[in-house]
Amino acid sequence: MSALMATLHTNARDLSGLRTGRLLVSHPSKRDADGHVMWHCICDCGKTKDIASNSLTRKKPVQSCGCMNATTAQVKRLIDGPWNEAKSYVIRDG
Ligand SMILES: [Zn+2]
Repeated sequence: MSALMATLHTNARDLSGLRTGRLLVSHPSKRDADGHVMWHCICDCGKTKDIASNSLTRKKPVQSCGCMNATTAQVKRLIDGPWNEAKSYVIRDG
């Protein structure tokens, strides 16, 4: 257990070094209002974000600072484009 973990008086799981998606967990930063330990995470895009431990250990953990969602939305639009054209083509033919 790191000195900072001891400082936070936490017996929470040490998530240092954990990687979920684009995020690399660095160190515990603080406790949130509910007493959950917040972890300082470094995203592959270069941003950093403090994320609650339960958001990192749940079945579908947070996987980016938010940039992954933006990318996914862009990809979805690209996939939806051709599909919509195909649909209208079928309708015109019918
Ligand atoms: Zn990011």
